[in-house]
Amino acid sequence: MTLVAILSGAGISTDSGIPDYRGPAGLWRRDPEAEKLVTYDFYMADPEIRRRAWLMRRDTPALRAEPNAAHRAVAELERTPGFAVRVLTQNVDGLHQLAGMPPRKVLELHGTARAVVCTGCHARSSMEEALARVDAGEQDPACEACGGILKPATVMFGQRLDPVVLGEAMGIAKAAEVFVAVGSSLQVQPAASLAGMAAEHGARLIVVNAEPTPYDELADEVVREPIGTALPALLKRL
Ligand SMILES: [Zn+2]
Repeated sequence: MTLVAILSGAGISTDSGIPDYRGPAGLWRRDPEAEKLVTYDFYMADPEIRRRAWLMRRDTPALRAEPNAAHRAVAELERTPGFAVRVLTQNVDGLHQLAGMPPRKVLELHGTARAVVCTGCHARSSMEEALARVDAGEQDPACEACGGILKPATVMFGQRLDPVVLGEAMGIAKAAEVFVAVGSSLQVQPAASLAGMAAEHGARLIVVNAEPTPYDELADEVVREPIGTALPALLKRL
């Protein structure tokens, strides 16, 4: 059994029509007003910010996006005898699971945009339901259990990563025989340190990304071709 860890970033989902929002050169970082909508303190403090954030979520393509060939190739490798696959993703779009990866084998480092969580009682419910309430006229839908402020189940700017998820991701990085970093600039933590950790613990490190990354020199293989064709070809070779 070969343990393959796939670390995926925004670049794996651009073929599905989802732009890079969060990365160092992402949309949010280039627009301070938009960044406020996804920054915890602003969001919690200001109902007007929340009202705009709900409208942004309603209009984002992420929830309607479909997985692409790269997501499907990862799920296919997982079904191939002889391979154990774990996905560590920086994305919140849920597309690995929609492509067929079992949810328990996907660690969402930044959470998921497909669920909402109450900041008061921590109850979780679906984003779809919350957006239906926005469509029906609620500007800032509150938790139906306790009246608390709802937010997406993502890690907003200013929030910590879930230490349990992070711990599991580090364990996988250390144990992996092959570590494929795909569509990630590897400039944001914890993605960067996970790649380094995998290489330190003897994994074959493969970087698939359009732009150079700080880990290219450490990598056993660097692939610059478009992810939608390069990743399926690469995983078939494993
Ligand atoms: Zn609540």
